[in-house]
Amino acid sequence: MPSSEPPGAENAEKAVCARCGVTAETPPPTWSRAVDHGRRSYLCDDCCRAHITAIESRLDPARW
Ligand SMILES: [Zn+2]
Repeated sequence: MPSSEPPGAENAEKAVCARCGVTAETPPPTWSRAVDHGRRSYLCDDCCRAHITAIESRLDPARW
C-alpha cells in the first residue's frame, strides 16, 4: 500500500482564482466564492476588488 497520497486526490480542494489564475492550498476567507453551473469558482481578493470596482463603475449613479 502506498503511504503517500496520490496526486490529484478528489479531496484536494485547491482554490484557483477564475480571473488571474492564482492558486491557494485552501481558499482564504478574503476570497470570493461563487458557484457557477454547479462548479465552484473563486476570485482572489485583488480580483474581487477589481471586479467590484468594475461593477460599481458600470452602475448608473442616478439609479441610487
Ligand atoms: Zn485573482
